[in-house]
Amino acid sequence: MLERGYGAVGYDAVAPNARHLVLRHDLDMSIDAAVTTAEIEAELGVAAHYFVLLRTEMYNPWSDHGRRQLDRIAELGHEIGLHLNASLYPDDAAALDRAAAEECSVLATLTGRPVEMISFHRPSSALLGRPDDIAGRSHSYQPRYFHDIGYCSDSRGAWHHGHPFDHAAVGEGRALQLLTHPIWWDRDTARDPVAALDYFRAERDNVLMHALADNCEPYRAARGASPDESIEPTNG
Ligand SMILES: [Zn+2]
Repeated sequence: MLERGYGAVGYDAVAPNARHLVLRHDLDMSIDAAVTTAEIEAELGVAAHYFVLLRTEMYNPWSDHGRRQLDRIAELGHEIGLHLNASLYPDDAAALDRAAAEECSVLATLTGRPVEMISFHRPSSALLGRPDDIAGRSHSYQPRYFHDIGYCSDSRGAWHHGHPFDHAAVGEGRALQLLTHPIWWDRDTARDPVAALDYFRAERDNVLMHALADNCEPYRAARGASPDESIEPTNG
C-alpha cells in the first residue's frame, strides 16, 4: 500500500478522497503477536491503532508481561484503543454504553494514556455503521470510517472479502480502513489459521506451566520447570 502512494494516518486525520490508510489491529488472541506487528510498522515509519480486549480468556493485559507488551506498542508510536466485546451485551444499548465507559477507564488506568477510540469485538449487525459515538468516543464502524472510506479485513485468517489491492477504493485512490489481526501474521504458518492457533495454544500452555511451577512447589518438583526460567513466550 505504501508503494501505491498511500500514507498511514489516524482515524482523526483520515480524508475520504486522499490515499490515506487507517491501520487497525484488533487483538482478539495475542498481545505478543501484536508487538511483532508494531515493531515492523515502526521500522516502516507508520503508526497504527491497536485495540485491546479486557474481557477475554486469551490474554491478560494486566499481567506484568502483558502490561510491558502494551507499553512497548505505545512507545513505538501506536495508539492503544479498546476492543469492546459487544457479544456480552446483546440487545442492550445502555449496558453496552456503560461497559464502554467502564472499560475505557480501566484501560486508560492500565496504560497511563487516554483511550480515544473503540472497536467492537463480535458486533451485532446493528452496530455496523452506527453513527453515534459510544461513551463519548468514536468507534471504528462509524459511517465516516466504514461507509465513506473503503473497508477491508482479514477475518478468519484470510482476505475473504478480497485483497486490499483489489479494493475499489484503492483502485480509485481513496482512503481505506484496513483491519488485520496480528495473530494471523505473526509467524510462517503458511497462512493456515488452524496451525497458527495451535502454535498460539502451545505457547499459552507453556506460560501456564511455568506460572504453575512458580506458584506451587509440588508441581515444580513433579514437572521440573524452574522458577528461574522466563515465563514469557519464546517469541517475546
Ligand atoms: Zn475482535
